[in-house]
Amino acid sequence: MSKTAIITGGSRGIGEAMSLKLGEMGYNVVINYRSESSKVLSDNIAEKIQKDYGVETLVVKADVSKYEDCENLVKAAVDKFGENIDVLINNAGITNNCNWIDIKREQYEAVINTNLMSFLHMTHLVLPHMVNHSSKDNQCCIVNTSSVGGLTGVINQADYCASKSGIIGLTRALALEFAGKGVRVNAIAPGMIMTDMLRGVNQDELNALAATIPQGFIGDVSDIAGAMEYILTAPYVTGQIISPNGGFVLQ
Ligand code: NAP
Repeated sequence: MSKTAIITGGSRGIGEAMSLKLGEMGYNVVINYRSESSKVLSDNIAEKIQKDYGVETLVVKADVSKYEDCENLVKAAVDKFGENIDVLINNAGITNNCNWIDIKREQYEAVINTNLMSFLHMTHLVLPHMVNHSSKDNQCCIVNTSSVGGLTGVINQADYCASKSGIIGLTRALALEFAGKGVRVNAIAPGMIMTDMLRGVNQDELNALAATIPQGFIGDVSDIAGAMEYILTAPYVTGQIISPNGGFVLQ
């Protein structure tokens, strides 16, 4: 029987690569996005997944920083694919780049609500649809996208770092709580990855960023989709933070 995966922020960047990988792995994929401009992007990813991998897809617009939108997202997935959800990829994220004196309350609340509260909402809503059928031999899996910002401090990213460290705490606690129930919970903490998040950074700045990475280059979205694939296929791995980062946090 086909298995169902939900991914938040599946329309672009890392989320797009993960959505495609989920399809390649044979999951029916529920792709979430938020911005109107990403509808076409999401529809195109869904079409490609169906065509290339022969699985079903569903595209759902929802602002996952809001609990009600998360409820609608999970309901849409259940209406289409049934009560059992096998995989949740919490990936939606935004960032500010602002010092802690000038930052506005609305700015840091948006980061915390999008990057952390959405992960709480989605795990809270999806876990009942996992524990209803999960077991040692039929494991369900949650993968949370954290960041190296959750492992180290980053200047002008206090809100982002707070959200990404919070995800690590959530991951470890849920991994422990659900370890005996056939649900594994892990996180990926990417280093610098070439996506729209680095849009606006000019070539000189990109070169300077790359020079801060021991391996000397910025990562690709496939590095993160590959880490997700490893986690989904590693039955004895739970509560772990896998960090493809070119050696960034070794310094
Ligand atoms: P991106 O290209 O900017 O894509 C962000 C994704 O999140 C988009 O799909 C966006 O949807 C979605 N999103 C944002 N707010 C949302 C909301 N409220 N509700 C639903 N979806 C929402 O970013 P990315 O670089 O791929 O980042 C993906 C994840 O990796 C994030 O959690 C980010 O913090 C993390 N990360 C990225 C890097 C990096 O260097 N790129 C490094 C470490 C961690 P729309 O398309 O509709 O806007």
